[in-house]
Amino acid sequence: MTGGTLQQTDVETLTHWVGGSGLAGTSGRFAEVTDPATGAVTATVPMASAEDADRAVAAARSAFPAWRDTSLARRTRVLFRFRELLDARAGELAAIITAEHGKVLADAAGEVARGQEVVEFACGAPHLLKGSATENASTGVDVTSLRQPLGVVGVISPFNFPAMVPMWFFPIAIAAGNCVVLKPSEKVPSAALWIARLWAEAGLPDGVFTVLHGDRTAVDALLTHPDVAAVSFVGSTAVARHVYETGTAHGKRVQALGGAKNHMVVLPDADLDVVADQAVNAGFGSAGERCMAVSALVAVGGVADALVERIAARATALRTGDGRRSCDMGPLVSAAARDRVTGYVEAGVADGATLVVDGRSTPVDADGAGFFVGPTLFDHVTTDMSIYTDEIFGPVLSVLRVDTYDEALALVNANPYGNGTAIFTNDGGAARRFRTEVEVGMVGINVPVPVPAAYYSFGGWKGSLFGDTHAHGAEGFHFFTRGKVVTSRWADPAARGGTGGTGVDLGFPRNV
Ligand code: NAD
Repeated sequence: MTGGTLQQTDVETLTHWVGGSGLAGTSGRFAEVTDPATGAVTATVPMASAEDADRAVAAARSAFPAWRDTSLARRTRVLFRFRELLDARAGELAAIITAEHGKVLADAAGEVARGQEVVEFACGAPHLLKGSATENASTGVDVTSLRQPLGVVGVISPFNFPAMVPMWFFPIAIAAGNCVVLKPSEKVPSAALWIARLWAEAGLPDGVFTVLHGDRTAVDALLTHPDVAAVSFVGSTAVARHVYETGTAHGKRVQALGGAKNHMVVLPDADLDVVADQAVNAGFGSAGERCMAVSALVAVGGVADALVERIAARATALRTGDGRRSCDMGPLVSAAARDRVTGYVEAGVADGATLVVDGRSTPVDADGAGFFVGPTLFDHVTTDMSIYTDEIFGPVLSVLRVDTYDEALALVNANPYGNGTAIFTNDGGAARRFRTEVEVGMVGINVPVPVPAAYYSFGGWKGSLFGDTHAHGAEGFHFFTRGKVVTSRWADPAARGGTGGTGVDLGFPRNV
């Protein structure tokens, strides 16, 4: 225990979820789960061995044939029930997220709502899985296309969205007839277990949804397992690259979403009060632990002074503390995350950036020894400083100053990441140009965190995504199914005959 008020007896021992019930695991290795607002250890979570991963995949594999053959009507009925239960009990899930991640309750509820949108989208599976049919492609020949499930698919998720990121994938994978093995972040394991129980209550057959806890051992076991057909990964770029390279080398379909450095470009004609509000939301919401958080604000043509003043006033008014209290911003997820962020603040100062708001001294409304850093604002940041080049993943907003739109565009496009970006302007022509010219997967026009709706697809470019397919939307159904085309002809006795009286034609078939 690291300084909280909980007694040792309050520390829960979690299990994997395999074949519809808890499984203790064989490794003997455990990780501690903490409440980041107090620093107290609240649970221990088993770290899977390769043998545990085998058991999890075997359970999923044995559930697959029956689930694949379950009618779409029955499958979607389970999804609808899951949606209703989730809707009714969203508050429970939000509380679990706040207790292990630290984000404030309202933000956690927002995360659940965005995940629920994907469940609702996946309820439309019968329409989205429809193939196409052509009659008389050739004389008497019909062609039909089908999309079929892959089998067992792995989902490996990061700590920052314990519910929403897994929900980008598993509702669609399950609706399409696959069985899912979810490997959640070991920092926030309880949301996945809560979801597993909800699936069971909704009537999902045992083995269709599995939770395997762990670290690299579990991930590598899934990436190399012959019975895992595909892996969806979300996390840091270094691990995403490893997952993509290892998974594809083992013949799997892989989509690996990585880290980010998201820019917000502000043109001189923008409404600076609106921009300041949005910059504070996008920079400090969820303590900056969002893959779509804005961490670099590019102020064009002399707006920086007025903007920095406005952002600083708002940032210092934010209340930082325990997410269960009346606060705007919670803690970082761990002591290591907090120390990493304060290390970057020190580096920014040493590199010569102007520290306008210093979150290291922010007053905090919490008990115990939580992992807090308050909103932090740097001005006069340049592209060679580590606070710009690295993904900090904390509440640190950097302002960079440029003279023209073209300089701003070049700056954004030169960045190795390409997840989200936003432009703030009242000039439709400039916004339209930006939309076309910027090399980033998700673009906001006067929208700072442009997370696409569930029926569109989520994904970045460049170092923010390895693979060809983005998450959810039509691309999600595409990722979790493979195509088959059936060409059929039913014998017509009247058409018998052919060349040379043998009835056999060795020529390449033409459509006639
Ligand atoms: P992480 O890369 O440390 O962990 C992600 C997952 O990979 C976890 O399940 C973890 O257990 C596992 N893992 C960690 N190290 C591993 C290793 N060496 N080998 C195999 N598996 C490993 O990421 P995180 O700290 O949990 O999450 C934050 C990161 O995720 C940030 O970089 C953020 O930008 C990114 N993220 C990206 C998106 C996106 O949509 N692009 C969304 C959310 C988060």
